[in-house]
Amino acid sequence: MSVLLPLPLAGAYDYRVPPEFELEEGDYVIVPLGRREMVGVVWGAGSGEFDPKRLKNVVERLEAPRMPAAVRRFVDWVAGYSMAAPGAVLRMAMSVSAALEPPRVLTGYRLVSGAALPARVTEARQRVVDLLKEGPPRLLSELAREAGCSTGVIKGLVEAGAIETVELPARMSPPVPDWRLPGPTLEPAQAQAVQSLRHAVTKGGFSATLIDGVTGAGKTEVYFEAIAAALEAGRQVLVLLPEIALSAQWLGRFEQRFGAKPAQWHSDLGSAERRWTWRAVAEGEVRLVVGARSALFLPFAELGLIVVDEEHESAFKQEDGVIYQARDMAVVRAHQGQFPVLLVSATPSLETVQNVATARYGAVHLPDRHGGASLPRISTIDLRRHPPPRQSWISPPLRKALTETLAAGEQGLLFLNRRGYAPLTLCRTCGHRLQCPHCTAWLVEHRFRGRLQCHHCGYTAELPPACPACNAVDSFAACGPGVERLAEEVVALYPQARLAVMTSDTVFSVRGAEEMVRRIQAHEVDLLIGTQIVAKGHHFPMLTLVGVVDADLGLGGGDLRAAERTYQLLHQVAGRAGRAERPGQVLLQTFDPGHPVMQALVGDDRDRFLAEESQDRQRTGMPPFGRLAALILSGESPEAVDRLAREVAARAPHLEGVTVLGPAPAPLALLRGRHRRRFLMKCRRDQAPQPLIREWLAPIKLSGSLRLQIDIDPYSF
Ligand code: ADP
Ligand code: ZN
Repeated sequence: MSVLLPLPLAGAYDYRVPPEFELEEGDYVIVPLGRREMVGVVWGAGSGEFDPKRLKNVVERLEAPRMPAAVRRFVDWVAGYSMAAPGAVLRMAMSVSAALEPPRVLTGYRLVSGAALPARVTEARQRVVDLLKEGPPRLLSELAREAGCSTGVIKGLVEAGAIETVELPARMSPPVPDWRLPGPTLEPAQAQAVQSLRHAVTKGGFSATLIDGVTGAGKTEVYFEAIAAALEAGRQVLVLLPEIALSAQWLGRFEQRFGAKPAQWHSDLGSAERRWTWRAVAEGEVRLVVGARSALFLPFAELGLIVVDEEHESAFKQEDGVIYQARDMAVVRAHQGQFPVLLVSATPSLETVQNVATARYGAVHLPDRHGGASLPRISTIDLRRHPPPRQSWISPPLRKALTETLAAGEQGLLFLNRRGYAPLTLCRTCGHRLQCPHCTAWLVEHRFRGRLQCHHCGYTAELPPACPACNAVDSFAACGPGVERLAEEVVALYPQARLAVMTSDTVFSVRGAEEMVRRIQAHEVDLLIGTQIVAKGHHFPMLTLVGVVDADLGLGGGDLRAAERTYQLLHQVAGRAGRAERPGQVLLQTFDPGHPVMQALVGDDRDRFLAEESQDRQRTGMPPFGRLAALILSGESPEAVDRLAREVAARAPHLEGVTVLGPAPAPLALLRGRHRRRFLMKCRRDQAPQPLIREWLAPIKLSGSLRLQIDIDPYSF
C-alpha cells in the first residue's frame, strides 16, 4: 500500500503490509523511513512499480480514528491547486503527530480551597486566581493563555501553596452546544435570510451563500440560526474567523446563544489541548469548532456547514509553508463534502461579489442596522486645506470634533494603522536611515519598549547612541507618526482624557484583548488610539467619533487590492462609530478626497465602488477576471539567485493569453537574510496556471540554499 508521510516530499511511498495487519485507506501507521520510523497515513493501493519483496514493512497500525476519505481528498486537492507537496498539506491535517498519541492523563490546576493568597499579589497572579475562582481546573497552557501570563506565574502560585494540581480525566468531554436554546426574535429581513439558510442546511448539498449586510445588521445572529440547524441535523460545524486571538466577544456571544464554549483551534493551543481537541473532532465528540484557517484541515467526519466570517480579510491567506487562501479552500471543502458554506461580510471581496453576480454563489442581504441604529456620517478632511500644525498629525477640524466629543462625555477613536513610534528613523546629520540587517525594511522605533524593531522578521535592537554612518551623537529623528507618537500628541492636547492604545504590541492575549474591550465598554476610556485590531467586530456603544489619521496609508504600493482593502478596512473602522442610539461621525484625513475609495465611503456607495473596481480589473485582466501566480526565487547568495532567475526566465512559457513578468526584485527583496526575485504569471480565467508552471519548472534543479516558492492567487506582489 502507499503511505503518505507528513513531509514535504513528492508523493506517497509504497510499503508492504504484513498479513496480520488489516489496513484500510486512512489508517494511521508507523513506517520506516531511512533510519527513522514515522507516522503516516495509508493513502492508496500502492503503485505496484516495485518488487513487493524489496519493500519495507509497515511497522504498526495506530489506534486512532481513520482519516476520513473527505479529508484525504481535500488534502490531495489543496496540494494540487497550491502546488505544494501533498505531505506538506498532510502535515497540517495531522496537525502535529502528537495529535496521534493516545490521550494521556492531563494535569489540571485549581485553587487550594481556603489557602491564603501570598502577601505580594501581582496583577498577573490576581488574574490567575480570579479565573480559577470562576471556573473549573485548567490545563497549564490554557490557564496561562486565558490569564495572559507566563506559565512561570502559575508555577509560582503552586510553590506558594495557593494552587494545586489535579489529575483530569484523560478524555475531557467537550461541552456540547445546545441548538434547542432560543435565539432572539428575528426581524423580517433576518427571518427571511434564516429561512433560506436553514433550508440549504437541512436539504444538504453544496451551496455557497454570501451574507451581506452593514456592520451591526445582525449577520452573526443569522448565521447562528444556520449553525443551530446544522447541529440539529447532526452535522459538525466549522466557523473560520480571521483573528481568533481577538475574538473574545464572539466567543462570549456564542456561549450565550448555545450555552457552551465552542472548541477552538489555532496556533496558540497548548499541546495537550491540541491533542484532545483533534481527537474529539475525529471521534465526532466535538460538534462545533471555531478556528483560524488551519482548522479547515481537522479530521471532521460529519462536517455539514462552514461559516467564513469576515470573508474579505486577507488574514485568510496563508503566506508561508503551504500557500493557500482558506476562504477559497473552504468553498472547495464544502463542494467536495456536498454541504453549504456561508461567506459573511459587510464589505465582500471582489472575488465573492463576482461569484454572486454570475450566480455561482447565492446571497442574502440584511439592509439595515439592527434596531434601526443609524449609520455614521462619513466625511473627509482635506489635509491640503487643513494641514495639522508642525509635528502634529491632527488637523484643526479633527481636533475640534475631538474636543466636542470629549466635552459631551462621549468616546473618540483615532485610527492609525501603524505600530510603534515612527515608521522611519533617520540621522539628521547625514540622512542615514536605520534599516533591518536581514530585510529590505526600515527599523521601526517602539518607544514604549525602548527598542527598534523590524516588522517583517522580528529583529530588534537598541537605538544606537551614535549614528553608525557618521558617528553624530543624539542625531536621530523620527519621521512620520505611529500610534505611540500619536498618543504623545493626544496626551499633550487632552491631558485630562483617559487614553488607551490598542495594537498588537499592547494587546497580545485573548485575556488582554477582553480586558481592553471591557474597559472601553465600561467607559473607563475616553480616547482610544488603535491599529487595525480595533476594527475587528467590537461593539463600543459610547463611541461616537472616529478620526482616521491617514486614510491614504494603504493606497500606495504594488498591491492589486490596495483600493479594495483600504475601502474594506476604513469601512470597518467607520462601523465602530455610533452603534447604539447615538449617531456617529467619521472623519477621514486625506490628501486625495476625490479618490474613488474616499468618495465611496463618503457617499456610502459600496456598489458603485465595486463596479468601478471591477471594470478596472476586467480591463487589465486581473483577478477575479484573470488568474495570477507568483514564483518567488530565493537564496542566501544574490548571485546564485540571479543565475537561477535567468535560467527560469529562459524557459518561461510563450502562450497566447499568458503573460510572464520578471524577474524583478520581490517586494521585500531581502527577507530574513534571503535575497528574493519574483516572476508574475497572468493567465486568462479559463487557463489554469498550474499545469503551465509544472511544465515550466520541471527541469529546474535547485541546489544549496536556493528555494522556489509558488504562490497561486498572490496577495502582495
Ligand atoms: P453583524 O454581525 O452584522 O455585525 P450582529 O449579529 O453582531 O451584526 O448584530 C448587531 C447587534 O444587534 C448585536 O448586539 C446583536 O446581538 C443584536 N441583534 C441582531 N439581531 C437581533 C435580533 N433579532 N434581536 C435582538 N438583538 C439582535
Ligand atoms: Zn527584518
